[in-house]
Amino acid sequence: MSYRKSPRITNLWSKVADGEKSEWLSKLFIESTKPFDYSLVRVDDKVIMLRCTGAILNMPEGKISINDGLVREVWLKQENSDSTSVELFLDQPAEVKLAALEVFPFRLEITLDRFYLTKLFSGKTIIIDPAHGGKDTGGRGPVSLMEKDVVMPIAANLQKIFKRAGAKAVLTRSGDENISTKERLEKARLERADIYISLHTHACADGRVSGSATKYPAGSIDSKILATYVQEELVKKIKVADRGVAEEREPVLPLDLPAVMVEVVTITNIVEEVFLRGLTIQKRAAEGIFNGIRNYFAVRQSDLKVS
Ligand SMILES: [Zn+2]
Repeated sequence: MSYRKSPRITNLWSKVADGEKSEWLSKLFIESTKPFDYSLVRVDDKVIMLRCTGAILNMPEGKISINDGLVREVWLKQENSDSTSVELFLDQPAEVKLAALEVFPFRLEITLDRFYLTKLFSGKTIIIDPAHGGKDTGGRGPVSLMEKDVVMPIAANLQKIFKRAGAKAVLTRSGDENISTKERLEKARLERADIYISLHTHACADGRVSGSATKYPAGSIDSKILATYVQEELVKKIKVADRGVAEEREPVLPLDLPAVMVEVVTITNIVEEVFLRGLTIQKRAAEGIFNGIRNYFAVRQSDLKVS
């Protein structure tokens, strides 16, 4: 096949979608100027290699981060003048299906079943606490964005993902109301929650300080583990400075279940205040927190199997 006439891979993108039988799916699309031959190799239960024969890579080689809860990343490589490899790295095992879509540009659709996630989250109850509310505005940005307002859309996005994953997700407040810590914690107790997640932003007198952090109640080992996972996945998703995990000494979190306080970004930093107003970060922050909680449940589940 002459190089000039070879199909060229020009784009790779992904989305999370519902299937026809209400399955929850991860879809990846490889776009090309023309159809190409392909073959699938299951390297192991979490690595899938797709060989695209006769296809030339017309985009950079290397890693594309996905982190959609199932697909962690994709690696693109021009193996030789006649073959491109697309390697998928999954967070959990999943069934895969391929379909060639005869449209222009030509698309190869890779569909993965997110069944692992719905299995992991079914029966779980998560309390999502959009912090502050009413007269208690929380932190305030240089251009007057208020913490109590910005945690709401993040909480709503998070609730939506948990529900789709099959969990029960309950918000401590749904409107702009001032609720005491006691009432928030009482809700967690009444719901027999498995996880409590309080959403905040960081505030600092020094406007240069930026980034996200996750806090846990002093002395709670489970909460510290949860905080570590959440922080790791959140930063992967929103790519701001990592302020790490730390103990929270104020008695604002429950002690009898895994609980964390996420400071999504720093509202007093002017760049991050602008960033926070965007729908993208509000969605990505929720996805990152979800991924962290997924890791926590996955590890807990494997601990149970071992013991
Ligand atoms: Zn706060």
